[in-house]
Amino acid sequence: MRILIAEDDFTSRTMLAAVLKKSGHEVVVTENGAEAWDTLRKPDAPALAVLDWMMPEMDGVEVVRRLRTMQTDRPPYIILLTSRDEKVDIIAGLDVGANDYLTKPFDQGELRARIEVGRRMVEMQAALVESREALAHQATHDPLTGMLNRRAILDRLREEFARARRQGDSLAVGVCDIDHFKRINDTYGHQTGDDVLCELSRIMTKSIREYDSVGRIGGEEFLVIMPAKAGVECTPLFGRMCGNIAGNKLTTRSGALSVTVSIGVASAAGDDTVDKLLAAADAALYRAKSEGRNRVVQER
Ligand code: GH3
Ligand code: MG
Ligand code: MG
Ligand code: MG
Repeated sequence: MRILIAEDDFTSRTMLAAVLKKSGHEVVVTENGAEAWDTLRKPDAPALAVLDWMMPEMDGVEVVRRLRTMQTDRPPYIILLTSRDEKVDIIAGLDVGANDYLTKPFDQGELRARIEVGRRMVEMQAALVESREALAHQATHDPLTGMLNRRAILDRLREEFARARRQGDSLAVGVCDIDHFKRINDTYGHQTGDDVLCELSRIMTKSIREYDSVGRIGGEEFLVIMPAKAGVECTPLFGRMCGNIAGNKLTTRSGALSVTVSIGVASAAGDDTVDKLLAAADAALYRAKSEGRNRVVQER
């Protein structure tokens, strides 16, 4: 792994670097605390550092103190190196946030063993962060289409609604429902139906603008959120989305299929609630269905 060393003493620095390289590590060598701090604060910094205590410009303890004020998911593992063996110094080093210490002159076997402990800690930390990120992704995304799931898109709507209200901007939502989707399942099977959902989510995601959002709120229903400055007409954007879907053949395991969607649109009025906005979009969708499907209807 990549390990940073910071040591002003030439002999000790050379020894450290040699031992670590011999153990198969990539060594980033610095000669004082300021240089070490500059390297360690960067996003691609080594995850493990061996810092001498006494160094010109900035001592090792100060480097640790600064590192520990940084907000990060992956704090570096730090071993302080000191020629002092007074307990009080060691305690001070650990108190500011060092993970371990070594006293100089160091024993090579002990250095290797302590680096190994550090490597295990760094790997465990990385695995924890990764699984936490994976869980967060699973909690907010639909496993079939990879889109935002119902909870996540409704959370986004509540945020956008509050923001629009604060800033006096307008906000439109569209509830988009596949027309006669049951027929696709009945004719070609559920897996082909799933292919249609995936293809459709791809087209919808491509049809929206950077600051719009889309998510799957139910089986074959999607919610599109379009924040806009007051006066911007969203219906043409929904119209284009509707046209893009009807005009594209979707690739499925049963061959290329065509589907259409109906979209119910509503824009937020001053005194609205999120629930009323969604109910208005639902009412518009109902009208779009009863007026013949493959169309956009705006309720208000
Ligand atoms: P309408 O034009 O009135 O919307 O007709 P529809 O057939 O689309 O509406 P209906 O509500 O009768 O049927 C929706 C179908 O969507 C029924 C259900 O089996 C299917 N469905 C829901 N979720 C999934 C899914 O994840 N995969 C597949 N393949 N089908 C799904
Ligand atoms: Mg020194
Ligand atoms: Mg439906
Ligand atoms: Mg439907």
